[in-house]
Amino acid sequence: MSKKILDPLKPIVALCKRRGFIYPGSEIYGGFANTYSYGPYGVELKRNIQNLWWKTFVQSRTDIVGLDGPILLHPKTWEASGHLSGFSDVLIDCKTCKARIRADHLIEQKLNMDVEGKSPEEITAIIQENKLTCPKCGEHNFTDARHFNLMFSTQMSKTNENEADVAYLRPETAQAIFLDYKNVVDTTRVKLPFGIAQIGKAFRNEITPGNFVFRLIEFEQMEIEYFIREEEWENSFESWLEEMKKWCSLIGLKKAKTQVKEHAKEKLSHYSKRTVDIVYDFPFGVNELYGLAYRTDFDLSRHSEESGHPLYWHDLEKKEKFIPHVIEPTFGVDRTILALLCDAFEEETLESGETRNVLHFDPKIAPIKVAIFPLMKKPELTAKAKELFQEVLPYFAAEYDETGAIGKRYRRQDELGTPFCVTIDYDTLEDNTVTLRERDSMKQIRIPIKDVKRTLLEKI
Ligand code: ATP
Repeated sequence: MSKKILDPLKPIVALCKRRGFIYPGSEIYGGFANTYSYGPYGVELKRNIQNLWWKTFVQSRTDIVGLDGPILLHPKTWEASGHLSGFSDVLIDCKTCKARIRADHLIEQKLNMDVEGKSPEEITAIIQENKLTCPKCGEHNFTDARHFNLMFSTQMSKTNENEADVAYLRPETAQAIFLDYKNVVDTTRVKLPFGIAQIGKAFRNEITPGNFVFRLIEFEQMEIEYFIREEEWENSFESWLEEMKKWCSLIGLKKAKTQVKEHAKEKLSHYSKRTVDIVYDFPFGVNELYGLAYRTDFDLSRHSEESGHPLYWHDLEKKEKFIPHVIEPTFGVDRTILALLCDAFEEETLESGETRNVLHFDPKIAPIKVAIFPLMKKPELTAKAKELFQEVLPYFAAEYDETGAIGKRYRRQDELGTPFCVTIDYDTLEDNTVTLRERDSMKQIRIPIKDVKRTLLEKI
């Protein structure tokens, strides 16, 4: 009988905790659901992804500039963008076990029916007619369906008063970019078409968060709002789709695991004329990794109307003035991390029958590029190993380890996804050569110690 794996993410979640990639949030207080900390290796992985993204899409291009906008934006932003009225999911509560459930997900799972665009009343009727039951307790005992806004609200105290105004934590970074569109145009030399890029936190009061860092209530996005003339949208959309695919292969995601999924016209968000998702085959199913949307001129037009500041593009040569249209490629940082972990993780059975856990990260994004070991904890070996460690440290994220058996130290680095290990042994003292071990093949070669830095620079 085949062994049923209840939670396909379990080995990855365990490795992340054990090796300091990702810890459950507020653990000493018993945890705080669906929040996580990126530990010492997780934060390196995250930074490597963000830095590579910034280098690829901002620093290496002449048509995109960066921005770091606030998380709290003027509350009118969310009226104008449609988030206050429309950024909601349809929710039902199980009266028996108190589970909160997304009604559309329940209906899709049980009846394979898409209820996009249906009212809460129609959804309630479908649940009643089909006697749908709670996935947690099996009872058919639900509240009526109702809209649930996904924005987190917070109180801002007014100066000299006790009253408070409601403000919202941004549910996407995009709106901060639209609010500063005019500032960027007025203070830089950008020319249409151009983009504004941002990496930052977003918050959503998700009804059913979960699957580790796949669906969080606090997460990070890397987004570009790319401003164009309306007639350019189809070409621009296609070229951004290509850029997104290139990014997936740049970070080392397996091609066979990613696909492009077109959103049906009737399922498009209120602002979009075309949206595609780059989906990834996660262990819990194929799900959205990234999104690409043609947002038209919706956002800039709405903010122009609501703020009274027209957000035009002035073409002085052609003597034209118009509101640009927008193509938006959006990349979730946490989902990138999860996809990379799932892609890279392997429980490998070796010829000896032993198993080793390994993360086959692309060296570009691996948290640690090289680990340096003395074969044994003997002063003559440790001194030489530390010397080499100090030499490579300014060039690579490196680690020095002298604790325990050498095999165990290799296994630890395999689990961290470190592509190379260098060992100093007694031969090193004789002939100034070291062992360079490669993670995936586990092949070991001898190279002169003076060539270590150059060899690694060529490989990473
Ligand atoms: P989903 O359909 O999975 O809820 P979405 O279509 O609402 O996602 P977008 O609004 O397009 O997501 O957000 C852009 C990107 O932000 C997504 O492609 C994803 O990578 C990331 N993202 C969205 N919501 C979350 C979340 N709750 N936790 C982690 N990442 C998220």
